[in-house]
Amino acid sequence: SAFGADAVLEGLDPEQRAVATALRGPVCVLAGAGTGKTRAITHRIAYGVLSGVMAPQQVLAVTFTARAAGEMRGRLRALGAGAVQARTFHSAALRQLQFFWPKAIGGAVPRLLERKVQLVAEAAARGGIRLDRADLRDVTGEIEWAKVTQTVPDDYAAAVAAAGRTPPRDAAEIAGVYAAYERLKGERGTIDFEDVLLLTVGVLESRPDIAEQVRAQYRHFVVDEYQDVSPLQQRLLDLWDGGRGNLCVVGDASQTIYSFTGATPAFLLGFRARHPDATEVRLVRDYRSTPQVVGLANGLLRHARGPAARARLELVAQRPPGPEPVFQEYPDEPAEAEGTARRIRALLDGGARPSEIAVLFRTNGQSELYEQALADAGVPYQLRGAERFFERPEVREAGLLLRGAARGGADAEVDGALAGAGGAELPGHVRAVLATRGWTPTPPAGVGAARERWESLAALVRLAEEFAAARPGAGLPEFVAELDARAAVQHVPTMEGVTLASLHAAKGLEWDAVFLVGLTEGMVPITHARTEEQVEEERRLLYVGVTRARERLTLSWALSRSPGGRATRQPSRFLDGLRPGGGGAVLGGPVGLGARASVTRGVAGRAGREEVGRRPRPRAPIRCRLCGRVLAEAAERKLLRCADCPSDVDEELYRRLRDWR
Ligand code: ATP
Ligand code: MG
Repeated sequence: SAFGADAVLEGLDPEQRAVATALRGPVCVLAGAGTGKTRAITHRIAYGVLSGVMAPQQVLAVTFTARAAGEMRGRLRALGAGAVQARTFHSAALRQLQFFWPKAIGGAVPRLLERKVQLVAEAAARGGIRLDRADLRDVTGEIEWAKVTQTVPDDYAAAVAAAGRTPPRDAAEIAGVYAAYERLKGERGTIDFEDVLLLTVGVLESRPDIAEQVRAQYRHFVVDEYQDVSPLQQRLLDLWDGGRGNLCVVGDASQTIYSFTGATPAFLLGFRARHPDATEVRLVRDYRSTPQVVGLANGLLRHARGPAARARLELVAQRPPGPEPVFQEYPDEPAEAEGTARRIRALLDGGARPSEIAVLFRTNGQSELYEQALADAGVPYQLRGAERFFERPEVREAGLLLRGAARGGADAEVDGALAGAGGAELPGHVRAVLATRGWTPTPPAGVGAARERWESLAALVRLAEEFAAARPGAGLPEFVAELDARAAVQHVPTMEGVTLASLHAAKGLEWDAVFLVGLTEGMVPITHARTEEQVEEERRLLYVGVTRARERLTLSWALSRSPGGRATRQPSRFLDGLRPGGGGAVLGGPVGLGARASVTRGVAGRAGREEVGRRPRPRAPIRCRLCGRVLAEAAERKLLRCADCPSDVDEELYRRLRDWR
């Protein structure tokens, strides 16, 4: 109803309201972190749907990470527009590709390639080239780069020279491996992650009839995080829109962090030039963070360079003051992890909810130390977002088990457990059923995949508790029906754990308390960031991290890698002038409110570690971050990734692929 539609506009400021009511595109919103861009576009979609201007199935909302897409779906559902699709570019493209494949290309729909590096090795072997592991990663990285920049094997050598890249091996040799890899992939009937976009664009370009069909289905396009669009994704967007201009894009050039996939803020900054009739809105009020956090974020960007920096607007904090950011130096990395876990434990003991806390790091390899420290401190955590919760193997298996138990007679062990549990309470029944498969109310000693499986099942038990409280007397059959209903709309239970995530994966999300860890030279900026452009991207990555915090922000670093090691590490250069008394030239005096913050040194030093580390603990097997395989080789264990999974830069993309919906 029109009444419902108007209610959606409440709680928006005048500029956000202008975005929400501009239902015909083109619309462009340029604004900093926490200013309500995502809020404005989700409300716009809801307003369009509830006022009857947009049919929900004609709207396609796209963003860049599975977590962000999940977040958007959650917000849309809460606004009564849950039927609208919110996807990543890759998942939207993949669905279209699979749907149109028989008609456009013919034959069986290809499978997604799982073991890319292995195929690259085979391709190299065909040409008589032997590559060691490090070479394989580098060459795979080059092939990925070539593909996202739409460079075919024949043009690779010239493109590398033009881009000023130093290829890890002879360019002609890499081009040969690339060509053989493409052939092998075709022979196996598989496509890789990059092919998803390339092929979808190819089909839409060469088959106007199919393009028309897609355009008839989707009439309204909304893109969040538009600063991270790549030329190929932009091409796809143009093909989808087909010149109708029904595009609404929002972004923050200061948050461009996916340059390695070809992302560029040029499309955001040039939107007005391409669409002179566009409604352009700028937002500067920051609703997310305290003035202390906003001050630090502004200070961090004050020294930024490049096109993004020129387009930047200072954020103006709207929230009341909160605690000062904490800058914390530790003697070594285990001390940093344990100190962080201790601070989190204290927050939880003070009543904070684990789901409102995040630990963010630069590389996924840093996570294991934190998993262990949190597990030791008895803190629940989650590595993945809650996306695709109902499709997790352990959740599916539990669902089948509960369904069987609800009917009875499906599994003698389960029936036995239910008969012996005595009380008729639903949560007890759910616990008893899960116990037949080894689930215990206390978390396992291990970390990583095992712990995560436990957390998923714990979430199901919590759900049973909530359901029983809301519907006293409900039994297993009702609970199973509730699970089915939730699975159908992906209404996932709140995962209670502290979030452990990379800075890349944290984009668009927010927590009350954020711990940015490992902020040393070599990590942020990362060692392989050499050019000024690459270093600026690292600064933006830190800006993304800082602006995830609503209230509490802790920035920490360790001076050495291991206990007793030489203190060879330096705090990140980006903290110069922000941390009180911190090194480096302070340009223009102390910056913002960060100058009042406190630096504490080494409080969680050796003594603290001994206290935590006194009992020997069983070490869980180390698993590949991406595919979960147990890692035997030292080199693999160090990287926390098996040799078959993609190279470093591809990690985030690969996660997105695995999480696509
Ligand atoms: P990012 O750049 O990090 O993606 P964003 O610009 O998309 O940030 P949102 O996530 O939409 O920002 O909003 C940040 C926070 O501020 C959210 O908690 C949101 O609910 C809140 N918020 C946004 N606009 C308003 C408003 N007008 N009144 C109150 N709260 C608001
Ligand atoms: Mg956002």
